[in-house]
Amino acid sequence: MRLGFYGAAGGVTGSHTVIDLEGFRIGVDAGLFQGSEMGQNKAGFGHDPRSLNALLLTHAHVDHSGRIPQLVKEGFSGPVLSTSATLDLCEVMLKDSAHLMQEASDHESRHRDQKHNRSTSPLYTEKDVVQALRQFKTLDYGKENSVGDLSVKFKDAGHILGSAIIELYFGKKKLVFSGDLGRPGSPFLRDPEKVDEADWLVLESTYGDKDHGNIAERKEKLLAIILETLESGGNVIIPSFAIGRTQEILYELNFYAERGKLKDVKCFVDSPMAVSATEIYSRHPECFDEETLGLLRSGDSPLEFPGIRYTRSRDESKAINDLREPHIVISAGGMCTGGRVLHHLVQNIERKNCTLLFVGYQAEGTLGRRLLDGARSIKIMDKQLDVRAKVKSLDAFSAHAGRGEILEWLRAFEKFPAQIFLNHGELNATHALAEAIRSEFDSEVIIPKAGQRFTLQ
Ligand SMILES: [Zn+2]
Ligand SMILES: [Zn+2]
Repeated sequence: MRLGFYGAAGGVTGSHTVIDLEGFRIGVDAGLFQGSEMGQNKAGFGHDPRSLNALLLTHAHVDHSGRIPQLVKEGFSGPVLSTSATLDLCEVMLKDSAHLMQEASDHESRHRDQKHNRSTSPLYTEKDVVQALRQFKTLDYGKENSVGDLSVKFKDAGHILGSAIIELYFGKKKLVFSGDLGRPGSPFLRDPEKVDEADWLVLESTYGDKDHGNIAERKEKLLAIILETLESGGNVIIPSFAIGRTQEILYELNFYAERGKLKDVKCFVDSPMAVSATEIYSRHPECFDEETLGLLRSGDSPLEFPGIRYTRSRDESKAINDLREPHIVISAGGMCTGGRVLHHLVQNIERKNCTLLFVGYQAEGTLGRRLLDGARSIKIMDKQLDVRAKVKSLDAFSAHAGRGEILEWLRAFEKFPAQIFLNHGELNATHALAEAIRSEFDSEVIIPKAGQRFTLQ
């Protein structure tokens, strides 16, 4: 058996791994490259998509799912196996992704220099998305299913709704993909399930060099930042992934709204995709933890409170800018690489009483990363803007396990994997995690390079 790494190798985006079993080939995730790695999307997959027999999908985030329609467009005709919540979220995400690509391509066509007549066609269109969605087959957590000679089982990864750890059995051997691992104690979701044995493990390493703030304290910090900003007459802008983070923030805001601490505060969820994703959350209580189910039983829906406003249309979105009273805006994209959040940045970034609050990972090469690194001046939609707003970050909202939480998850193995492949991390994080694993466990830790293939004995 061979294992090939075609994405998220030495970086966090573009997850795509291929298992080769004497002619039977299974992919795991097919994600978009983003930020500084974006150019790699057009470079093909590094292998022939037509020869893939099936694709297993860990979760709906676009850095894991965003190239599935491209894979289909280039000839992949097998099933895509995911949980049912992942399929619902993918429907929204992939259509949005195709839409953004079309917009970018139209924009490029209008503005391109006539002399440099480059190809501006989008990676894929909505038609490819519709075909890709037809190929999905859903699996429940905990049930074994056959894919060729392999048996596949999903465990809950506790990262976003529907996220899965993938266990693959062939004969007596077992290969495990952690996917993106969540944090214990996250709202809505159950804690990441433990795995007790594996021969090989492909492990994410996003925060391999860093522990996050305490999950129990984060909502107090969030409240403090919000109240301080609103009292000074400013707005709080929260760039957030539409799926996962947005709902977690709403969960914490609901806690305070229910207790009268955010009285009359308007909170806009300004992202059509976040609105759709929030509806999908409501449809999948089978993914919720006991605490959330308890809230629902008591009649409190954590995604609804008096001040919340979901805005879909452009007009509704623009109307937020005319609002005089201080307010909160949660808007995508989470790394400020596009989406409506850019309009809110233009409106608020030069106002010193406003706060720009990051709640998620900011990849290298993104506007979010530049702002977080202290940029004093930025360009958005051809406007040069001075950064006068406060730029803050609450990393406790990360949907990824921190270093200590990854190591704790590893300690649950009774039969420890002989080889661990670290992916999905920038190199300093990955190397730091490799060191920590080597010093505590008896295992060979490998950091694959993009395109590198390994024979598993
Ligand atoms: Zn993810
Ligand atoms: Zn990811």
